[in-house]
Amino acid sequence: MLNKKSVDDINVKGLKVLVRCDFNVPMVDGKITDENRLVAALPTIKKLIADGGKVILCSHMGKPKGEPKPELSLAPVAARLSELLGQEVKFAADATVVGENAKAAVAAMNDGEVVLLENTRYRAEETKNGEAFSKELASLCDVFVNDAFGTAHRAHCSNVGVTEYVDTAAVGYLMQKEIDFLGNAVNNPERPFVAILGGSKVSSKISVIENLLDKVDTLIIGGGMAYTFAKALGGNVGKSLLEEDYCEYALNMLKKAEEKGVKLLLPLDNVIADDFSNDANTQVVATGQIPEGWEGLDIGPKTAALYAETVKTAKTVVWNGPMGCFEMPNFAAGTEAVAKALADTDAVTIIGGGDSAAAVNQLGYGDKMTHISTGGGASLEFLEGKELPGVAAANDK
Ligand code: AMP
Repeated sequence: MLNKKSVDDINVKGLKVLVRCDFNVPMVDGKITDENRLVAALPTIKKLIADGGKVILCSHMGKPKGEPKPELSLAPVAARLSELLGQEVKFAADATVVGENAKAAVAAMNDGEVVLLENTRYRAEETKNGEAFSKELASLCDVFVNDAFGTAHRAHCSNVGVTEYVDTAAVGYLMQKEIDFLGNAVNNPERPFVAILGGSKVSSKISVIENLLDKVDTLIIGGGMAYTFAKALGGNVGKSLLEEDYCEYALNMLKKAEEKGVKLLLPLDNVIADDFSNDANTQVVATGQIPEGWEGLDIGPKTAALYAETVKTAKTVVWNGPMGCFEMPNFAAGTEAVAKALADTDAVTIIGGGDSAAAVNQLGYGDKMTHISTGGGASLEFLEGKELPGVAAANDK
């Protein structure tokens, strides 16, 4: 369980509270196209308002690369947040984030009021965790609260550097929820514990596989990475995604799983295509029997049924990474079958951000999951067993 000081452990009455949120929302023509992250930030903001704090919000958006980019201004976020909160969120337009405008806006605040600073990545030092910008941010506040799980795996000024110059650094409700769910699922799961890993490459999931092999009862592998396992076992994979350099690693993982008594499931069959296109010709073949010129783009129906059955036996399921190229409808069935199996079970179901979260939401199963992480990279590093710098920087209870 999280042993960090939270917003429930601090008294912010009359104090200036700097809150690092994750307002990195997608925008098209100045309009927010998905406001999940804004909604997810509301409980902490409302709590601090209700407690009489002067609430100063900050966040990054996109990659302005250290200079002001009007299309990446947080101004539209302030407008939408005002509506969601039912009270004004004053936007402190300021090219240097903590410049004269921001300082004046903060100085004029009354208890319970809210100000939003400009995109922290307008400053080049932000992503380098530079001292000057960290100090500037800290100078605005009495207390710091980090509620941005999506950037917790990075050490930046606005989530890590700033904590060195404030007396109190706590975590917000969203951060706490993420860490409680992910932490409990991985370190204290109700068993059987099944993890499902997919996505494109073995190489990007190595540490996750290794860490999870020490924790799970069953590890299910799908997606592009399954073909490296199939090749390592002597199969033909055609022109499927393959990382030759990782074949030996794949064999080692199979051996490690056996030694640890972990069931490691690989696809039995695959939907293959003669082109990387939704309009390609397709067929279903057994694993390791992909003809030259064809590539595996999804798990096959027998595999989907096996994986769905396996999910039914679990009390805890963690899922990260699609089972195939789900962006193309003809190769989405495997990912959909897994999503449905998770939606139908009473087990604790945790979706580790990124593509799997998008797939679950797109299919309308979002509210059937126990927890969908708001951080793709951060949740992956969590599953790797790493300590996230953004979490580590908060004060212990
Ligand atoms: P990742 O970022 O590693 O989680 O990978 C996600 C991407 O993997 C998605 O965009 C999928 O389209 C892709 N992917 C999944 N299965 C395959 C496959 N069999 N061949 C190629 N790409 C795949």
